[in-house]
Amino acid sequence: MAVIPVNIAGRPYEVRVGAGLLAELVPHCRGKLRKRDVPIVTDANVHAAWGDVVEASLRDNGHEPHWRILPPGEHTKSWDELAATVNWLLSLEVERGDHIIALGGGVIGDLTGFCAAVLKRGCKFIQVPTTLLSQVDSSVGGKTAINTPAGKNLVGAFHQPSLVLADLSALETLPTRELLAGYAEVVKYGLINDADFFAWCDTNGAKMVAGDSALREYAVAHSVAAKARIVAEDEFETTGRRALLNLGHTFGHALEAETGFSNRLLHGEAVALGMVLAARYSARKGLMPMASADHVAQHIGEVGLPASLSALGLDCNGAALVKHMLHDKKMDAGTLPFLLMKGIGKTYLDKQVSLEDVADFLDGEL
Ligand code: NAD
Ligand code: ZN
Repeated sequence: MAVIPVNIAGRPYEVRVGAGLLAELVPHCRGKLRKRDVPIVTDANVHAAWGDVVEASLRDNGHEPHWRILPPGEHTKSWDELAATVNWLLSLEVERGDHIIALGGGVIGDLTGFCAAVLKRGCKFIQVPTTLLSQVDSSVGGKTAINTPAGKNLVGAFHQPSLVLADLSALETLPTRELLAGYAEVVKYGLINDADFFAWCDTNGAKMVAGDSALREYAVAHSVAAKARIVAEDEFETTGRRALLNLGHTFGHALEAETGFSNRLLHGEAVALGMVLAARYSARKGLMPMASADHVAQHIGEVGLPASLSALGLDCNGAALVKHMLHDKKMDAGTLPFLLMKGIGKTYLDKQVSLEDVADFLDGEL
């Protein structure tokens, strides 16, 4: 097991990464579950796969689990589920010092974290991420949110968990497509500022995706540490440092919007292709060699993620994709800061990018 200490603005917590943590949930919580009753929010898929294991660990240690089993999928991050889950927690008489357990992917983590942020003006919660994406990204860093009709993640709070337990065994029941989508966020940490880690991904990524547990532990622990470092430097996304985590996300968001945030393109798949586009656009601007952009595309394609925009077969033009970008939360006083690359591991925030130029570039890629 790897233990990564996270310290964000003087609030330390641990991220534990290893196999078999769900079966030993209570010992790993190390005294944080101070009452007999323990509220757990999850979704139906995760409950079907891991509910018994978690239930047994709680009961064997004298706890009474109270389950809230929500429908899987993005729709669960809604005002309605927020209200219903907060009311449910109130009915359980959860107090500020109590911990709520979020057992699931990013949907469950984001919703439960937001419930914890607003319940009694902030109570505690433990993230138990069960997707690769939530283990390497959403469970660490304290962003919580729900979606509204105006867009994704537009209402939320910064609220750090007290503990994150990333059980690699949970990935055994995760559909391969979801696993690969999470892998896109792993590669992202290499491309942002760690060329050595990109090289590691290049050598080991396929084996890691195929199931090698030692490689999985290394990839998750390294990614968590990378995210924790960046968030610690810029908890509230004010200095631009945290924005680095959005590499590939501006292009990716446009692709998700164009495909209606549907199953056609998962978030991680959109980010994978978005990173290829960011690399190719950077190369076209002369910021880095096209051979480096090709290297990024080659690795992403080799593991089985989408690496070519034309292969998606979208029925739109570059201007339409750029129009989606204008609704991006990162729009700031009429300009959209773009993450570009001066090389692999050399991502920077560029505020001078012309959206007409981006549209023109995308026309050539479609
Ligand atoms: P998800 O939570 O929807 O999970 C994906 C699917 O896998 C679901 O169908 C789920 O039921 C299933 N699943 C989860 N764990 C499983 C397991 N172990 N075995 C079998 N099935 C399992 O999706 P996700 O990709 O984990 O998270 C996406 C969400 O995370 C989005 O809402 C996104 O906005 C959010 N997010 C938040 C942050 C943040 O910093 N807070 C960062 C990135 C993404
Ligand atoms: Zn992402």
